[in-house]
Amino acid sequence: MRRASKAKIKAKALCVICCAVLAMTFSLSGLMPGSTVKATTLQRSEITIALDAGHQAKQDLRLERIDPDNKSLGRKYKMVGGCSSAYNHMPEYKYTLIIAKKLKADLEKRGYKVYMVRTKNNVDIGCQTRAKKINKSGSKICIRLHCDSYGSSARGVSTIYKPGHNSYYSKSDASRSKVLASYILSGECKSTGFTKRYNDARNDMTGQNWSKIPTALIEMGFFSNRREAKIMSRTSCQDKIASGIAGGIEKYMKKYYHVDKAV
Ligand SMILES: [Zn+2]
Repeated sequence: MRRASKAKIKAKALCVICCAVLAMTFSLSGLMPGSTVKATTLQRSEITIALDAGHQAKQDLRLERIDPDNKSLGRKYKMVGGCSSAYNHMPEYKYTLIIAKKLKADLEKRGYKVYMVRTKNNVDIGCQTRAKKINKSGSKICIRLHCDSYGSSARGVSTIYKPGHNSYYSKSDASRSKVLASYILSGECKSTGFTKRYNDARNDMTGQNWSKIPTALIEMGFFSNRREAKIMSRTSCQDKIASGIAGGIEKYMKKYYHVDKAV
């Protein structure tokens, strides 16, 4: 995905830090806006996690509504092609599926159920349809996997969550999305040693706007940076990306579903 200018990114980063501090303060005092849903206790085997491997072999340039309520956001392509590795030219859609399969195995090993939006590269599933499939899957959360692309020197990991809410998406889900995104961001950075960029809110992501559950998109690293793309091509790094994201999900499930206390 293309990124904003450096200055804008810095400003956003500062804003995100401020928001994170505020969120922590609210969270600690139990005053997080919209956090009306109490945590419930579930066993890991009762929880399904949806994984959406970003992109697919063929793009779909038909248009679809970005948001179910807000028409002013307009329409966007159902599915764009994605980027490719500056190191070995691997397309983003192949890489995201490799990580999705590793993450699935990791989560299942921990005891969770996993719903995969796609298990093959040769599919035609637009962003809106992906969200609708996930809504029907009974999943508690969704992780959307992507690789970043912006010049040859940009590096690191970032996450995107949906701000606010619409009729598909409660305030509680929005605040949980932010927490989920921050946990998987920290999880991957801790595991791989990659730079932590930001956890940012965007309201123009079709796959998140049509989602009825907490959803976070992770840009796992920069495919446009040859050095980082080379590291990402290693199986050992891919394993670390998957285990880092899984660790973030585990932290989220402990917070909201007390999976460590379930018997
Ligand atoms: Zn992408």
